[in-house]
Amino acid sequence: MAVNIPVTSKPRIVIIGAGFAGIELAKALASADVQVVLIDKNNHHTFQPLLYQVATAGLEPDSIAYPVREIFRGQENFIFRMAEVLELKPELHCVATSIGDIAYDQLVLATGAGTNFFGMKDVEQFALPMKTLADAMELKNSILEDFERAVLTTSLEERDRLMTFVIIGGGPTGVELSGALCELKQVVLPHDHPELDLKKMQVHLVDMEDRLLKGMSPGSSHSAQAFLSEHGVNVWLNARVISFDGMKVELSNGKVIPTRNVIWAAGVTGVIIPGLNKECVIGGRVRVDAYNRVPGFNDIFALGDVACMVSEKTPKGHPMLAPVAIQQARLLARNLRSILRKSEELKAFSYNDLGVLATVGRHHAVAELFFGKFRGFLAWIMWAALHLMTLVGFRNKLVAMINWTWSYLRYDSGLRLIFRPRSRHSRA
Ligand SMILES: Cc1cc2nc3c(=O)[nH]c(=O)nc-3n(C[C@H](O)[C@H](O)[C@H](O)COP(=O)(O)OP(=O)(O)OC[C@H]3O[C@@H](n4cnc5c(N)ncnc54)[C@H](O)[C@@H]3O)c2cc1C
Repeated sequence: MAVNIPVTSKPRIVIIGAGFAGIELAKALASADVQVVLIDKNNHHTFQPLLYQVATAGLEPDSIAYPVREIFRGQENFIFRMAEVLELKPELHCVATSIGDIAYDQLVLATGAGTNFFGMKDVEQFALPMKTLADAMELKNSILEDFERAVLTTSLEERDRLMTFVIIGGGPTGVELSGALCELKQVVLPHDHPELDLKKMQVHLVDMEDRLLKGMSPGSSHSAQAFLSEHGVNVWLNARVISFDGMKVELSNGKVIPTRNVIWAAGVTGVIIPGLNKECVIGGRVRVDAYNRVPGFNDIFALGDVACMVSEKTPKGHPMLAPVAIQQARLLARNLRSILRKSEELKAFSYNDLGVLATVGRHHAVAELFFGKFRGFLAWIMWAALHLMTLVGFRNKLVAMINWTWSYLRYDSGLRLIFRPRSRHSRA
């Protein structure tokens, strides 16, 4: 079955994934004499760096997501189809999707990364991931519901389990979540649940490395850990999860923590669509050359988190970060134009690393930028300014700014609503 897409004599560039890479590439091809077909299983782009704020009731979901069709309003060579791509068929120059086959002249894989539980089935079954907007909304509901249950239960052990949160993974996401949970404990939940003894709420952060934020300098790691410990987070380093049965989590250092809530912020792996041969996959990502081309194909490229560009400088590929995805997309747009002009002048990718930032807690962040290292409130202002600038859409920027200012002045987050949408089928 072929999909309803206008027939064209222009070359068709099919992009799978409306994340940072896919969106940037489609935008950069706006004036190219091609038909751009963007496919995503969702109808929106998600700004993943702020997912933790949705999970902890700091922002509403629609202020970190933006409709794809709105982003491309007025771009004449652009077509969007909401569909899941199920299989690549390189020999037929088409992709099989949930709505039918779509043919391409050039194909770009920008499918991002998914959660990796490293084969731990019990953890996968009971832990909550934090990778998509749906995950973040589920996490928020689950946290708020646990406090409602904690009020109801007469069992002290169960109450403690419901009020104990164990976050696995001490990278930026784990650090940000721990800090935000402490903020909920200190400034928000005491107003909502005066019946509960919130001193009993525990936040544990577990990492297998010997320090948090391993991608940053030891100074930033130390600053983050000191801030979190000061605010009551129990940090467990050099420790791995052994098991989680929904009631208690066991760590490799012998520690057993009774809890209902394990949040998985530890591992990611590329989202690889079936259809490529084994040689194209390395370390759970799609192998690409310096031009983001998949080896063995002249017409298939991969960008962003799913792409692994191995070089002497990057033996495990580039870090899975939004700026890498964006920069690769901009360069690929330029190279695709050269390819379509039949010019041999392709430019190899070189990552321009402007630095990294991570927020640690209430108005405290660590920043390592190309012009210096910062910690504390100044770093948090930089973090907030950068995220406001990069959020898609004026409304989203405004809403995020108002929410942050409100919670800064009022020590309150007004988004503690539990919504469980009912599917069309559940009405029957
Ligand atoms: C919680 C969290 C916090 C983060 N914080 C930061 C940060 O502070 N700074 C930073 O630089 N980076 C951060 N990142 C990483 C950053 O978000 C990624 O590097 C970036 O999103 C990668 O862009 P991408 O386009 O490769 O993939 P994505 O943005 O993940 O987009 C992939 C798209 O592909 C679609 N897709 C996947 N499979 C299919 C399929 N089969 N069919 C159709 N569509 C499909 C998905 O729906 C999605 O829209 C964070 C990530 C997470 C999860």
